Amino acid sequence: MGKLCLKKGREKPVNNHHPWIFSGAISDIVGGEVKPGELVDVVGANGKWLAKAYFNPLSQIQARILSWDPGQTIDEGFWREKLKQAIELRDILQLEPSTTAYRLVNAEADGIPGLVVDKYNTYLVFQALTAGIDQRKEMLVSILAELLSPDGIVERSDVNVRKKEGLSKVTGIRFGASPPGNITVLENGQSFIVDLFRGHKTGLYLDQRENRATVCRSENVAGRELLNVFAYTGGFAVNAAAAGASRIVNIDTSTTMLEGARQNMMLNGWERTHDEYITGDAFLKLRQLRDEGRQFDIAIVDPPKFAQSKGDVPAACRGYKDINMLAMQLLRRNGLLATFSCSGLIDSGLFQKVLFGASIDAGRDVQIMRPLSQAPDHPVLLTFPESSYLKGFFCRVC
Ligand code: SAH
Repeated sequence: MGKLCLKKGREKPVNNHHPWIFSGAISDIVGGEVKPGELVDVVGANGKWLAKAYFNPLSQIQARILSWDPGQTIDEGFWREKLKQAIELRDILQLEPSTTAYRLVNAEADGIPGLVVDKYNTYLVFQALTAGIDQRKEMLVSILAELLSPDGIVERSDVNVRKKEGLSKVTGIRFGASPPGNITVLENGQSFIVDLFRGHKTGLYLDQRENRATVCRSENVAGRELLNVFAYTGGFAVNAAAAGASRIVNIDTSTTMLEGARQNMMLNGWERTHDEYITGDAFLKLRQLRDEGRQFDIAIVDPPKFAQSKGDVPAACRGYKDINMLAMQLLRRNGLLATFSCSGLIDSGLFQKVLFGASIDAGRDVQIMRPLSQAPDHPVLLTFPESSYLKGFFCRVC
């Protein structure tokens, strides 16, 4: 096995169980050429053994640590145990039967760097985000099949981050039957149609499950007009309809997704003629609504990730500030705002500052009532703060 030697003074994050080793921390690779995905021993500058990792010279994150135990061999049994551990955590959460779509494996945060597995009824959908996982996916699929007996396992490795690992996008059926074009899953008792091949991420934004329920309670939305910005397939809208919202105005750039939202409303028995589905850029559409003098009682702002890399952070902050300023301006006195950022590079402290700026520009005083975060099937690993990526605030806009 190759040996990855760290530069002097770079052992600390490894000893603190952070799973990533960046190229800048590496002094040398010894023991011949190590190919993408292969295992390496990680040693300190003094030659002391520290961890076992899989390697990828093409990536900025050149190694992802799998074990800090010198006695651990990285064999099939290792991966089986990791997957079992991840599944056990979801057993504790007891999401079923009212929720049938949830995350089973949350990559680094479940000790399996680079692997995401989501469950949709009797189907599993996975994403191999790194070369280390991509090379082992056949084995991982067969373990998942053995542990969970799904009807089918779909690969949705069609994410941009694979490029950084020298991998192209791939999708397909890797085990069992292909799911029908659309399947209907349950989230907190509500039905949602999911396209496991074309939906965003693996199909749904599962990380917002709890926030949909928390924000869309009847005391917040009953009899009120709701503005649902970045609506996707209506996760918040369906919950708001169930809680008695009088009118829901959905905005998204994608007509297909808004059509999905409409179908999800129907599926749950909400035939509402007064709701609106507005296709277009939220920044423009909110300005239009504001200029038309429209007002709402509650707004949900759940944009896609604005900051993909560090360099994007300033522009992303300007985007968050602008969209939140507009949402605040569109709210009636004492209206409610649930606002989110899923940019891992923007922490909740910075997001709060951005909202402060938005509130000043909007000329409104804003009270945070409740911080919001990702659902518990997306656990945060303390040694890997990057796993805490979704943050939000439930606020009153005075
Ligand atoms: N709130 C949703 C998830 C939102 S995901 C839920 O609970 O399921 C982000 C959505 O924003 C996607 O549907 C995407 O199509 C949409 N989107 C991306 N950029 C946009 C823009 N500039 N204006 C409006 N919608 C946009």
